Order: sequence, then C-alpha cells, then structure tokens
Amino acid sequence: MKLDETRPTVESLLDELEGSVPSPSPSSRHSDLDTPSQQQSRISASCATRELDELMASLSDFKIMAQGKGGPPTQVNKLDNMLGSLQSDLNKLGVQTVAKGVCGACCKPIVGQVVTAMGRTWHPEHFVCTHCQEEIGSRNFFEREGQPYCEKDYHNLFSPRCYYCNGPILDKVVTALDRTWHPEHFFCAQCGSFFGPEGFHEKDGKAYCRKDYFDMFAPKCGGCARAILENYISALNCLWHPECFVCRECFTPFVNGSFFEHDGQPYCEVHYHERRGSLCSGCQKPITGRCITAMSKKFHPEHFVCAFCLKQLNKGTFKEQNDKPYCHGCFVKLFS
Ligand SMILES: [Zn+2]
Ligand SMILES: [Zn+2]
Ligand SMILES: [Zn+2]
Ligand SMILES: [Zn+2]
Ligand SMILES: [Zn+2]
Ligand SMILES: [Zn+2]
Ligand SMILES: [Zn+2]
Ligand SMILES: [Zn+2]
Repeated sequence: MKLDETRPTVESLLDELEGSVPSPSPSSRHSDLDTPSQQQSRISASCATRELDELMASLSDFKIMAQGKGGPPTQVNKLDNMLGSLQSDLNKLGVQTVAKGVCGACCKPIVGQVVTAMGRTWHPEHFVCTHCQEEIGSRNFFEREGQPYCEKDYHNLFSPRCYYCNGPILDKVVTALDRTWHPEHFFCAQCGSFFGPEGFHEKDGKAYCRKDYFDMFAPKCGGCARAILENYISALNCLWHPECFVCRECFTPFVNGSFFEHDGQPYCEVHYHERRGSLCSGCQKPITGRCITAMSKKFHPEHFVCAFCLKQLNKGTFKEQNDKPYCHGCFVKLFS
C-alpha cells in the first residue's frame, strides 16, 4: 500500500493561502463599498502572506531534515505555534485560512502540511506507526484494522513466517506441509536441491526430492539393493526389479516364471543344482532322481561308468585310479 497522497508542495500551499486573501480586484462586487479599514486589512494580509512565504520556506527545509532521522521535535512544536498564531492573526484580520481538515489523531484542525491516508487527514507528526510510534512520513505503510503500521513492523507482526528461518515472508510464499516458507528456504531435506515441476514427496513432515525419497523410503530390490520406483516382482519374501529377477549365476531370465531357490536367491535349474552340488559329474546335468555319490562326486546311475569300457558300474565294486572309476576287469588289465 502507498500513501493515498503525498504532501502538497509548498507552492500549492502558498497558492491556496494567497487565494484565500480577499482580492483587491475592482470587478469584485464589494469594490464600491471599499472602506479604509478594509483597505488596511488588505495591506496587512499581504504582509501576512509574505510572512507565510518565509514560514513555508523554513517548513520545506524542515521537511528535508525530518526525512533524515527523526528531526528535533521542538522544531515541530515551534512550527505548530507559528502556524497557529499566524492563522489566528489572519483570522483577526478577517482573512479566512482554509483548514485542510481535522487531524485523525489529535482532532485539531490542520494548517500547513497534511498527510492524507486511509481516507482521513493527519498532521504529519501524528501519522505514526501504531507499533513503534515513529512518524511514517513518505515511507510506505500498511493498514490493518484501521491502524497504520510501518513496513518493518507490519511484516514482523503480521506477515506469514518461514518455517525454516522463522523470518517474515515479504514476497512469494510457498505453502507446503501445512506451513509457509520462503521459496529459497523450501528444499529437499536430504540433498538441499529445489523442487522442479515434479514437486516433492513428503515423509514425516519433511520434503524430499524424488530421488532421495525413493532412495530413503522406497522398497529395495532383492537383486541390486536399489530402490524400486515402478514395476516389481514379488518373490522369495522380497521385491525385485523385473530385470533383476534372473538367475543369480548366469543372469538368464526365467522362462514361464519357474525358478529354483537356494539361500533365498533365485537360480536356473542348472545353477541351482550346481550350488547344491547336485550336478552329475558325468553329463554335467542336474540329478533329480536317483543319484550315486562316489569319489566325492555325484552321478546319474547310468553315467557312473568305467572310464575305459564305459560299462555301468556299481557303487560298491569299482576301482579308482587317478580320480577315475574303472570296472574290475579293466583295472586289472590296465594297472596290475
Ligand atoms: Zn494531529
Ligand atoms: Zn513501526
Ligand atoms: Zn526463510
Ligand atoms: Zn534430494
Ligand atoms: Zn534390482
Ligand atoms: Zn543360471
Ligand atoms: Zn549324468
Ligand atoms: Zn571297464
């Protein structure tokens, strides 16, 4: 809000006062009633006008001082007195000074500088901040419930507060998380960056950027341990990125969704058996049915054969040489 009207210029004040002095114009309808006393009053009035000239000159000087810091208050009173006595002198002489209304604070008539604000007129020295009582002068002010406040006090008293710095918010306000913030003080609680058009995510009264929010709070993939943002597969008491739910050994996706679990991890059939040590040492394929364990290895029964004649062996009757199994006949022929 701005002042409704700035103070009138000294020139316009003088114009007004001079206009109120009866004109000696011969065309006036009172001209033929001229008396010596009226003549005298006219001379005095023009003397008073000159006095006013000087007064106004000093008043304009004072105004410049007052705009600095405070200004001596005694001078205000002196001016008030001078203006008051001048007005009564002029009135005595039959000169009507125009009162520019009544001061909204002290209720006395205003002659001289006038502040027009909030639909009323005020002595400049009586148009003060409701809070600090300092003269508002030509500074900006704010009105609240019919009371004027200087800018600083208004903001301190009534502006929304930033939840981050607790300072008053004078310009743009961000409203989020049921609180108000300076735009420059509303950022990701984790990385400190501002939020783009995608906005922010809330958790426990704090705002996070998308990346940090998901990094911190989204479920983690059982395969890569990174956050899951969109599609997922739920398996083995875990959530997985679809691309991460593959054999932990060969990274082959599972056809028809069938997989083998070992220690909470998914495997293709081959690597499942490899993990469990249940691959046939003869054909390198998984053993799902009967199994022969010999020489610390596992075999399909039909793949546990003599290394020389390839006849199937029985678990109890083979001979071992250089980590290979032989039937009794071949062993005797070859090694004895
Ligand atoms: Zn006043
Ligand atoms: Zn104030
Ligand atoms: Zn702030
Ligand atoms: Zn962040
Ligand atoms: Zn993953
Ligand atoms: Zn595999
Ligand atoms: Zn086999
Ligand atoms: Zn043999």
